[in-house]
Amino acid sequence: MLKGKFSIEVRDDETSCKIGLKLRDFLLANEMVEDKETPDYVFAIGGDGTVLRTFSKYIDIIDSVKFLSIHTGHLGFYTDYSAKDFEKIFFDMLALEPKVEQYPLLRLKAYCKDGKLIADSYSLNEITVNSHSGSTYAAKVFINGEHFENFRGDGLCISTPTGSTAYNKSLGGAVIHPQMDLYQITEIAALNNLVYRTLGNSIILSKEDELIIKPLKLDNHRISVDFRTFNYDTVSKLYITLAKDKKISFIRYNDVSFWKRVKRSFIENE
Ligand code: NAD
Repeated sequence: MLKGKFSIEVRDDETSCKIGLKLRDFLLANEMVEDKETPDYVFAIGGDGTVLRTFSKYIDIIDSVKFLSIHTGHLGFYTDYSAKDFEKIFFDMLALEPKVEQYPLLRLKAYCKDGKLIADSYSLNEITVNSHSGSTYAAKVFINGEHFENFRGDGLCISTPTGSTAYNKSLGGAVIHPQMDLYQITEIAALNNLVYRTLGNSIILSKEDELIIKPLKLDNHRISVDFRTFNYDTVSKLYITLAKDKKISFIRYNDVSFWKRVKRSFIENE
């Protein structure tokens, strides 16, 4: 049985709240202590969106927290338990030692014209950049300081391995095993002509690679980090890497392989 402090984050619906209360009673009865500020374990009950919001809430202490998620909706990519079999979690917690899996995160730093840092964030799924004025997004893309391509189109999606099954997948990017230390750039509706020419394919970058995006039009920027979207008047440079200082940890009691989860979510749920 786990020992230490826990916090339960629930999506605001009846099923998630009911499961949250039962889980809380179980954890308290097994001598765990509720602590919303500095928990050792965080239980997210809801959907993938609940995991994203919970991750963002605990980002400052992410290295000392382990997550477990129960999904109460249709898709649960970060989860091993569903609403209909959630009581199995009680048996598993009492009988089994969990495995801990760590997944990489993205780090974004954005600067404005005078070089001031205007955003410093971590992402679990993806960072997307585009224009909020309705016109195309145009930018020079650099990899490790070398100019790589000139992009013009709707925007760019930079995703983690766990985020590869989210927005990235809808854009035609590759699905990546979540424990691989790499990240991916996927174009959003690139406009290719003689002036703006991009590779077209998704690009997989290593944990050492540094991506720099220098927008050609400095105004009307929209940057999305997972579920949050920020509008900026000017952005002159975005610096994106795999986070060197933080990862997210999940505890897993059963061995639902990643590829089984992919099949279950996107191909068939046998
Ligand atoms: P939301 O309520 O619109 O839900 C987005 C959907 O994405 C949900 O079905 C969720 O289960 C799924 N999802 C989230 N993370 C996933 C993952 N890692 N793997 C597989 N599916 C995943 O929005 P939200 O709950 O605020 O979630 C924000 C996420 O929505 C973003 O991080 C982005 O990945 C995704 N999104 C997708 C598209 C698209 O596919 N066209 C567009 C915008 C945002």
